[in-house]
Amino acid sequence: MTSHPIRDLTIIGGGPTGLFALFYAGMRGASAQIVDALPELGGQLTALYPEKYIFDVAGYPRVLAKDLVRNLTEQAKQFHQETGIPSHLGQRVAGLEEEDGHFVLVTETDRFPTRAVVIAAGIGAFSPRKLPQAFAAEWYGRGVDALVSTPESYRDRDVLIIGGGDSAFDWCAQLRDKAKSVTLVHRSDRFRAHAATVSEVQAAAAANDGKVAVHTFHEIDAIFGSERITGVRLKDVKTKATREIACDAVLPMLGYVSDLGTLLEWGLDIEKDEIKVSTSMETGRDGVYAAGDITTYAGKLKLIASGFSEAAIAVNQAVHWIYPDKKVAPGHSSNLAVFGQKDD
Ligand SMILES: Cc1cc2nc3c(=O)[nH]c(=O)nc-3n(C[C@H](O)[C@H](O)[C@H](O)COP(=O)(O)OP(=O)(O)OC[C@H]3O[C@@H](n4cnc5c(N)ncnc54)[C@H](O)[C@@H]3O)c2cc1C
Repeated sequence: MTSHPIRDLTIIGGGPTGLFALFYAGMRGASAQIVDALPELGGQLTALYPEKYIFDVAGYPRVLAKDLVRNLTEQAKQFHQETGIPSHLGQRVAGLEEEDGHFVLVTETDRFPTRAVVIAAGIGAFSPRKLPQAFAAEWYGRGVDALVSTPESYRDRDVLIIGGGDSAFDWCAQLRDKAKSVTLVHRSDRFRAHAATVSEVQAAAAANDGKVAVHTFHEIDAIFGSERITGVRLKDVKTKATREIACDAVLPMLGYVSDLGTLLEWGLDIEKDEIKVSTSMETGRDGVYAAGDITTYAGKLKLIASGFSEAAIAVNQAVHWIYPDKKVAPGHSSNLAVFGQKDD
């Protein structure tokens, strides 16, 4: 187990709520870090709809989800210029322990001591949805990759991407210049992806130069190889005709499943798989606050805008709880010395 240095605040979840909480902690002079199960920051915005426009975030007439995540990251980063965003990704928090007067958040491999906790876990920890075909299970790690972490590792390889959403098309578009070939396979001809990316991939397939192919109404029917994958058999879901394709990497892009896991057993006020919070974002356990989609209260709206406000309340309360001489109210950012203004 790797044990990390203690922080004032540890934020579970790096979605928009968690990212704004990280910024707010910096503004209040509290040390903080994010722990997230996903390999990238941004929560639902990154995992589910990076290319969609959002129209109801204050100050933006419209903003692409991925651009909002980038800006939130930039905003939080101003307090961490030298070290970069303090985030621990690919780490799913499973335990909340108490030790020597502070908390410890526990993942499979790491321990994160912390004086207070902000739970911004949204709809739970995401993990990539696996291929439903039983025969596929043994090929994970031997050619089937659940996540793309290093695009460069697909250089000069024959890649098969399964799915019809944004992730499938985005990776098809991104890998087509690196990989020897990219084949996209989807069970229907209806795509849930950004129209411009669909057009780009379809145009590349129409060039018929062996670099990009799209097979609609097909699904994977068998995987071949010994140590690693060397090819797959595809089946036409309408005619049942099959064809074999050589490939050495299979990337299922089938979306994510989310799971709240053990979080519901931490002695918090839980109502229908959500954390019932007070107007101060208290959870029923001293020193543990919550914000964003994971919370419930009368009149709750599951929106990014609500998450921002709740993050500010949770962090201000947590800072005051840890350091009672620090006020709950932060003052106006336009007056704060931390931003180089004079009336702190
Ligand atoms: C398709 C779609 C379109 C949407 N459009 C809009 C819109 O136009 N406007 C709007 O306001 N809202 C929109 N939403 C809703 C919005 O995305 C959510 O309200 C927002 O993402 C909530 O942010 P969050 O940070 O609270 O949670 P999330 O974004 O869900 O982030 C939570 C993070 O916590 C992590 N996590 C959870 N449990 C653990 C754990 N145990 N350990 C480690 N990490 C954990 C997850 O991996 C995740 O990254 C949309 C949602 C969808 C799906």
